Amino acid sequence: MHRFFVNPDQINHEAIYISGEDFKHITKVLRLGKGETIEVCDGHGLDCLVVLETPMDGTIIGTITKTTPSKGETSDLSVTLFQGLPKGSKMEVIIQKAVELGVNRIVPFQSKRSVSQIKEKKDKKIERWQRIAYEAAKQSKRGIVPVIGELIDLKGLLQESDSFDLFLLAYEDEKKQTLKEVLTGFSQRLKKPLNIGVIVGPEGGFDPQEVSLCQLAGAKSVSLGNRILRTETAGMVVLSQLNFWREG
Ligand code: SAH
Repeated sequence: MHRFFVNPDQINHEAIYISGEDFKHITKVLRLGKGETIEVCDGHGLDCLVVLETPMDGTIIGTITKTTPSKGETSDLSVTLFQGLPKGSKMEVIIQKAVELGVNRIVPFQSKRSVSQIKEKKDKKIERWQRIAYEAAKQSKRGIVPVIGELIDLKGLLQESDSFDLFLLAYEDEKKQTLKEVLTGFSQRLKKPLNIGVIVGPEGGFDPQEVSLCQLAGAKSVSLGNRILRTETAGMVVLSQLNFWREG
């Protein structure tokens, strides 16, 4: 079934109002009309089955016949991925895959070894990344559209450290503890919902001084195994292991 996201202001009791790009898509591309059913998500984890009315003046109204919590969301975990700004268009792939894997927020950050700089107007780039998150959320049937944060530096990132129940730093030179060990140790004290922050470095990895700063701020440095993963792989590995852990 075709699926769309709407803003809460497009919902009024049992009625949903769709105009703009989605209106064009529904009526011109998909050629849907009166009596047909679509799935609409309110972006806050609620899915609605909607029966369409006849389109009129650039708006199509639908009647909600059923609401269910979005299956694409699990209420007990909220994950923010802090991603060291990678080169080229890698961030786009990272966003798409992280959204599929259930991330709630992605915040790019610039660190000592970041090679890349945002060249075009910053707002344009974040806007494009947000669009990618939106498309991926639609495709993977998420119940929310994960938010792409503004580019920050490590200092800005660490200001958030207190808001996480678990704050993880994926560190390529960590020899003492693995992600698995930290998660296994944590599960005894599991409280829900859990707010988790994950920091992944850029291609150049972390400077030891940055690692110390993160640890001082309460981040647990973890290894993802003996192989060095590319920056675009590391976040996905953490997210999939978090999914496995939570479901277990
Ligand atoms: N240039 C570095 C590797 C950086 S990999 C080197 O050659 O050592 C990019 C990022 O992915 C790292 O900063 C880290 O956050 C993550 N990463 C990659 N492999 C990892 C591993 N085995 N354990 C933990 N984190 C890893």
